[in-house]
Amino acid sequence: MSVNVEQVSTKNITVAKFGGTSVADYQAMLRCADIIKKNTTNRLVVVSASAGVTNHLVRLSQAGVSSTEREQIITNIADIQFAITKNFTSQENINNEISALLTSLRGFAEQQAKQHTTKNSDEILSFGEQFSSRIFAQVLQTVGVNGHYFDARQVMKTDNLYGKAQVDLTQLAANAKALLLPLLTEQVIVTQGFIGSDQQGNTTTLGRGGSDYSAALLAEAIEASNLSIWTDVVGIFTTDPRITDQARSINEISFGEAAEMATFGAKILHPATLIPAMRQDIPVFVGSSKEPDAGGTRIQREVESNPTYRSIALRREQTLVTVKSPQMLHASGFLAKVFTVLAKHQLSVDLITTSEISVAMTFDNPHGSTQALLTKAVVEELEQLCEVSVEHGLSLIAVIGNKIHGTKGVGSSIFDKVNDFNIRMICHGASNHNLCFLVPEADANQVVERLHATLFTS
Ligand code: ASP
Ligand code: MG
Repeated sequence: MSVNVEQVSTKNITVAKFGGTSVADYQAMLRCADIIKKNTTNRLVVVSASAGVTNHLVRLSQAGVSSTEREQIITNIADIQFAITKNFTSQENINNEISALLTSLRGFAEQQAKQHTTKNSDEILSFGEQFSSRIFAQVLQTVGVNGHYFDARQVMKTDNLYGKAQVDLTQLAANAKALLLPLLTEQVIVTQGFIGSDQQGNTTTLGRGGSDYSAALLAEAIEASNLSIWTDVVGIFTTDPRITDQARSINEISFGEAAEMATFGAKILHPATLIPAMRQDIPVFVGSSKEPDAGGTRIQREVESNPTYRSIALRREQTLVTVKSPQMLHASGFLAKVFTVLAKHQLSVDLITTSEISVAMTFDNPHGSTQALLTKAVVEELEQLCEVSVEHGLSLIAVIGNKIHGTKGVGSSIFDKVNDFNIRMICHGASNHNLCFLVPEADANQVVERLHATLFTS
């Protein structure tokens, strides 16, 4: 098929990001290509690795992988990629490119087996997106779109904190405007999410799930008009649909509410994604590449309706720490001391309530169990200052919406229906967008289900 070279203005560009399941196989990629083709403002495409590939690469990057396992992993990855390229009418060039990448990957993996470094890990982790972006550019060509591969490491400049590199926004903006933007008038550029390069040119990664964040940063850097995040669900839901089948997709939501949801555990977007979009005021669309016509969620600064209740988020495995000191009575400086200990151990407090002699707090831990974060050392240090009690097995529920503080009856609408559960540590968030509390882990699903029925379906 001939490729249609259409000129568009760089004034109205959509950055489209496709997640791992959206580029999992050839059929999935074709659906994405169709999305790009149907809307000619889609000029910059950011892809994740095909589903499963990054997990294989993570294993490959670890210490102690035998040469047999190494070869097995590389074969598994090769199988995923070649299963896609075998659908192309002309395969030779792309297969050569994939083979060359596999050889280079094997080199890094062998080096890693000899001497494990985090720098080498990032080289290894970056391959998933390198494969998928090359392949997707060719899928675009197959459907008649002038798609071209672009190496994100040319523009996404970072520090050298391998595995969790921080992006230099000034360099990114300058590079993207100089190297990327001019290409977009005639080409649809396909680049990698998740990866960047440090000042020496070594490959870096932005942290798992970082492709959303890459796409948002690129959208900001080129001052795009829109950012579309294509995933495998039709937008953001009122709550986790695995908890209740009453959950439904939200049409429109403000940046403030969506940021709150991302922080409180809605896993659909990488939590940092909205920051660049908010800075540059770029509306974000979240939809499913499997059902592009089924709608999705639009996230933007102003929305038409601002209901009191928008969604319910649930975060599991919370740890509650209560510190108690009679000294707190009429004393000042106690909290400062407690926070100094926490800051030293890089623990960030999530919810906090205080009474005359005690302070209760939970810890912000989007990446897993707080149990691991709250080490014996931290507890011992706090014990120097006061009595400490630590409780695990709790879940944090956040009711997210608008003017939650200023609306009459919020307390009874939320708590009346769940008053047979042990609800603890009720906190009105500082942002006016949420109200949070803790429940025992075992009750969490039931509480969410019942609240959802009360707040959304009646
Ligand atoms: N491929 C990377 C990961 O699986 C980045 C991403 O998909 O966002 O974490
Ligand atoms: Mg992802």
